[in-house]
Amino acid sequence: MKQLARQARAESRVIGLVPTMGALHEGHASLIARAKRECSPVIASIFVNPKQFGPKEDFAKYPRTFESDTEKLIKAGVEVLFAPEAAEIYPRDFSTYVQVDGLSDRLEGKSRPGHFRGVTTVVMKLLQIVQPNFAYFGRKDAQQAQLIAQMTRDLNLDSEIVVCPIVREADGLALSSRNAYLNPEERRAATVLHRALQAAKKELEAGVRDALQLQSVLQRTLGTERLAAVDYAELVDAESFEPVVRISKATYVLLAVFIGKARLIDNLYVEPKSPGSEELVFHL
Ligand code: AMP
Repeated sequence: MKQLARQARAESRVIGLVPTMGALHEGHASLIARAKRECSPVIASIFVNPKQFGPKEDFAKYPRTFESDTEKLIKAGVEVLFAPEAAEIYPRDFSTYVQVDGLSDRLEGKSRPGHFRGVTTVVMKLLQIVQPNFAYFGRKDAQQAQLIAQMTRDLNLDSEIVVCPIVREADGLALSSRNAYLNPEERRAATVLHRALQAAKKELEAGVRDALQLQSVLQRTLGTERLAAVDYAELVDAESFEPVVRISKATYVLLAVFIGKARLIDNLYVEPKSPGSEELVFHL
């Protein structure tokens, strides 16, 4: 992989990297489509990273669909697939980790101890191996994208992090490889995340700016779904991911909700139309 990337750099080509854990869906496809518009070659990686799963999490059960993934990547026009073995990425004496302080401990990091250390470590390695000009991430994992952007700044990497919009099913459910865990009843219940975000958006559109009031709207909507168990429903500053009291600048409305055994996340990104403007723009 390094040799191939080195060659592309020597030819002054613009390298795009799309890191994934496989079980590819239209969310991944949207990242690849964006990368294809901006880069050549586009390199996709598939690596189910053991270090980002907790001991009680779904590493062993995580969907692995390598053959259909490969077909999808070929159809999408990806030039290179990097799919290393775990032993190659983490040889027996592996002992160096990347940790973004502060941001890694909140929300997803708090619910999933060690998760972000695993993510930043593997993404750092992928960025080192490929040294892409651009690396593409989904806003579905908003905190992850922010952490990776922070890491690339802090460690002076030469890759630019591009954050792409959330791709959803027709009924609003954000696409996720973990949706495969849902039975039909749970699948119907899972739309409650999107419904809660929409309810918050409606309040914001009506002029509500108080975070507590918006949070209670989220909780009320999520509470209507018997199969939903809320992990967190928070309004946070879009850079620091610290809780906000009032929505006045770029903010994430973040949800993590168990539907049966599946832990689903989703978010609404809100920003002022222009700096200082009272008018908001919504990314749902
Ligand atoms: P994963 O394979 O789940 O680790 O995801 C690989 C990349 O795809 C990450 O940057 C995710 O944020 C992104 N992604 C996953 N689901 C979606 C989605 N529904 N819309 C946009 N990007 C997504």
